[in-house]
Amino acid sequence: MLHRVLIANRGEIAIRILRTCRELGIKTLAIYSDADRMSLHLKYADEAYRIGPEEPQESYLDVGKIIQLAREVGVDAIHPGYGFLAEDVALARGCEQANLIFVGPTSDTLELTGDKIRAKRAVEKAGIPVLPGIRKPIEKDSELVKAAEKIGYPVLMKSVYGGGGRGIRLAHDQEQLLDAFKPAQMESKTSFGKASVYLEKYIEKARHIEFQVLADQHGDIINLGERECSIQRRFQKLIEICPSPIMSPRLRSAMADAAVLAARTVGYTNAGTVEFLLDEKMDFYFIEVNARLQVEHPITEMVTGFDIVREQFRIASGEPLGWTQRSVKLDGVAIECRINAEDPYNDFSPQAGRIEEYSPPSGPHVRVDTHIYSGYEVPVWYDSLIAKVIVWGRTYPEAIRRLNAALEEFDVSGILTTKPFHIFVLNDPDFVDGKLSTDFVESRKIIQTMVQRQKLNRRSIEEIAAIAAAVYGQTISKTRSGNVSQSSSARPVRWREMRAEHGTRGQGRFVDTS
Ligand code: ADP
Ligand code: ADP
Ligand code: MG
Repeated sequence: MLHRVLIANRGEIAIRILRTCRELGIKTLAIYSDADRMSLHLKYADEAYRIGPEEPQESYLDVGKIIQLAREVGVDAIHPGYGFLAEDVALARGCEQANLIFVGPTSDTLELTGDKIRAKRAVEKAGIPVLPGIRKPIEKDSELVKAAEKIGYPVLMKSVYGGGGRGIRLAHDQEQLLDAFKPAQMESKTSFGKASVYLEKYIEKARHIEFQVLADQHGDIINLGERECSIQRRFQKLIEICPSPIMSPRLRSAMADAAVLAARTVGYTNAGTVEFLLDEKMDFYFIEVNARLQVEHPITEMVTGFDIVREQFRIASGEPLGWTQRSVKLDGVAIECRINAEDPYNDFSPQAGRIEEYSPPSGPHVRVDTHIYSGYEVPVWYDSLIAKVIVWGRTYPEAIRRLNAALEEFDVSGILTTKPFHIFVLNDPDFVDGKLSTDFVESRKIIQTMVQRQKLNRRSIEEIAAIAAAVYGQTISKTRSGNVSQSSSARPVRWREMRAEHGTRGQGRFVDTS
């Protein structure tokens, strides 16, 4: 077993990993940038080391510095978390060369899964359905137009090395396609270091369904069921559900087999996720392997009882899986909301600054993974995720009700968050019916309706305030003229806390009409 682990990450995921280490008696070493000197993950770690300035390139993304530190302070393993260097070939290879355990798959597997075209070719060859598309990078306008015509519009342009929903562009016709080409190449270059993009068929009204797999180093692979992540904005997940409300045992078994085969095909080891799209005809298509612990892994933990990080450490240290597929039971339904420091009323613009007050929800079957606290400063430098609110229920409706109640308690002031968005979606009749698709947010005009509702709310609050002011004025003048005594019952109502939207106290919009 492992004794000392370096956690090469920050935020909630660093804390998540630390917690399992503590439980397993593994000593933890945290790293931090100058922007994270006051971060909670330092407090929970046994040792903490400054890795560099605020800039990710010179701190959390600096492979050389991280490996050097790991050697100097002496660790058995590096856990990369998600994002940053989680799927970085250089870090995995660096660990292999330095005789350190990388908690994840091998560098060769990462090289394959990181190249979306190579991964798709390999998986397609193994007989798994993959979307129609051009399995090579596209370089010229003429090639692009020909490829799109062959595939048939609408098409999706993606970076060959993409991730996190970045650099994906949808084109319905040739004009949109040509307009998207250069910006997509540039975004790919800046985000992923290479300008290569490719094309595939865009599936309308698809559902995003992914399978969690665990693969040991002895050839054993199991799956921990699926998660549905169809609630997205700009190809990024916002709400995830385990299991999917649409899943039947037959479909689950077919997709799980495909997921395990895909994992085997790319030589996968450790915990990973195989992503699929499910179309309206219930046909599924492989999209990619996420070769890391995922943001939404807690919902699988809630439903299966597994601690996925614990399994990651066991597998990484060479232990056999020790679980059979039959020992995996899915019980109930879990849902996760990603609370981001973003203003949902203003194009999800990033929010940074001091969190004045934070009080988390709690109670039966509620889990909050977060790194924030009252007084914490959200830095401008990193991902906007500040908390994941996760609940479990015996059924999907029960989980939705519990999540609504939990979000009501989730209270942050000082910065704006995406909480109102989540409440909006959770109360949408189609969401409640489990009628989901990746265009849910856009096609149901969720954000536009939210903004409109807020404007109306504001107007009615202003009207109430005006009426209150008028009544108050009248009361005062009557009292002065001696006609009405100002008994306690005749005192004007004091709206100590008018909740501007969805009872969102934490959104910094108090209205006090007194
Ligand atoms: P998940 O699939 O685990 O839900 P996301 O796609 O939301 O993950 O990405 C998780 C985090 O990792 C996000 O902060 C995202 O920006 C980041 N991320 C994902 N893939 C990459 C990548 N290839 N390079 C850099 N960051 C990435
Ligand atoms: P990333 O590596 O950035 O996560 P993915 O290939 O996993 O990119 O796709 C991210 C999201 O984009 C999916 O969850 C889905 O919503 C959408 N998407 C990807 N490919 C397609 C497609 N061919 N048709 C429709 N939607 C797609
Ligand atoms: Mg993906």
